[in-house]
Amino acid sequence: MASPQTQKTSPSPLEIIIIGAGLSGLSAAISCALAGHHVLLLEGARGLAEIGAGLQITPNASKIFQQFGIYDELEAKAAEPSFLQVRRYSDGKVLSRTDDFNGDMKRKYGAAFWDLHRVDVQRALAERAKQLGTQIRFGARVADIDFNKPSVKLENGEELQADLLVAADGIWSKCRERFLASKGKSDVPLPTGDLAYRIVLTLDEVDDPELKDWIAKPSCQFWVGPGSHVVAYSLRDGHMFNIVLLVPDDLPDNVARQAGSIDEMRQLFTSWDPVLNRFLDQVKSVDKWKLMHRPELDSWVSDKSNFVFTGDSCHPMLPYLAQGANSSMEDGAVLGNVLAALEAKSQLPEALRLYERLRKKRGEAIVRETFAQRRDFHMNDGPEQQARDELMLSQLGKEQIECKFPSRWQCPEVQPWLYGYDAQKETAAALRESPLSMVSQASL
Ligand SMILES: Cc1cc2nc3c(=O)[nH]c(=O)nc-3n(C[C@H](O)[C@H](O)[C@H](O)COP(=O)(O)OP(=O)(O)OC[C@H]3O[C@@H](n4cnc5c(N)ncnc54)[C@H](O)[C@@H]3O)c2cc1C
Repeated sequence: MASPQTQKTSPSPLEIIIIGAGLSGLSAAISCALAGHHVLLLEGARGLAEIGAGLQITPNASKIFQQFGIYDELEAKAAEPSFLQVRRYSDGKVLSRTDDFNGDMKRKYGAAFWDLHRVDVQRALAERAKQLGTQIRFGARVADIDFNKPSVKLENGEELQADLLVAADGIWSKCRERFLASKGKSDVPLPTGDLAYRIVLTLDEVDDPELKDWIAKPSCQFWVGPGSHVVAYSLRDGHMFNIVLLVPDDLPDNVARQAGSIDEMRQLFTSWDPVLNRFLDQVKSVDKWKLMHRPELDSWVSDKSNFVFTGDSCHPMLPYLAQGANSSMEDGAVLGNVLAALEAKSQLPEALRLYERLRKKRGEAIVRETFAQRRDFHMNDGPEQQARDELMLSQLGKEQIECKFPSRWQCPEVQPWLYGYDAQKETAAALRESPLSMVSQASL
């Protein structure tokens, strides 16, 4: 396990303003503070968003928790899936299974695969950011940006200036809107065509002994069917159960989130596995979330190298590989790791170019991979689906999967690319290969 990083003293501390205290903003705050910079985090909401449900934390992000010094704290709150299983939708037939899944992850990648409540992750990150000196201001909504100074203007009219602005304000990003407007351009979030029903059950409210057993013994379960799939896993050490139903989007164009009808939801799954339907019998309320994405940006860094994007503001994706938050935290970690090498402010343009080189291609490739996962999970019944199922079944019971695999969660090509990423090592290697230019004594 990697040791927690100790806080550096920077020879040239930057004043950094981060816009948005989601998982990318908090991760960037911790990493930049560890690098010795001064961080002000502006959050539009009145407090930390204590909403949301489960979050699958894959080894590429739990490794970052090691670096940040919050791994042990989160381990106590996590559910560690003992196996991962993909089933056919109609009869629950097991198409693929990886036993000792979390053990396999730790052996392969040196960090855990955890299922955590989003609130637990957010609180741990926020506490660590504050310990490291980050100032968090709630109710501070950014309304405009001056890319020359650079500065942000809050909704109350207050203007705040910094050396570097970091956009971490999510898919509906105001920063992105102002950035594109400064170039005479605009774009908007686009529907992916799918929506998510998000459900959380607690162990206490479920009375069926078999379902209780599913919840208390953490695993990661998928059902795959025509145009839809379901993912379910335990949280909080087996005391909660998170179920996400991914189905075709029927929300009106201008609605991103809405309370869902249980009858309507049940109707969509009547022909699915009886065990899944027994879980759905327990549901008392449900939310519908439209799943959106955005086009790729030409650049993640402003022309004057004083503004940079992270997280959903620049690479929102389908949640089908559970990489939205994980890759957003990679962004934050890499940004701070690069800025740790800064000896003078004059190196900032070069440092941000390196950040962009390390992150943009990967973030955008992960987005594309989430759409490929949809294609392979959502096949209609027919020859293509039969070929997929035969391929999956051909690997069932083998110690290691030996071919490119439709479930990227287990695929020997995609899984190491996603989970094997080490934000600290990647940055260190890139800096060894192309160190920031030497700084003259005069500019120090
Ligand atoms: C159904 C579903 C399941 C998911 N499951 C997973 C999973 O298992 N694993 C995973 O890795 N990812 C998952 N994701 C994706 C993940 O939730 C997002 O990718 C991630 O939260 C993005 O983080 P972010 O910090 O970039 O943005 P956000 O979390 O959206 O945070 C942005 C923050 O900026 C603030 N803000 C916005 N505008 C302003 C402004 N103008 N001024 C100041 N503050 C502002 C907001 O209030 C918010 O706090 C899932 C997503 C969905 C929809």
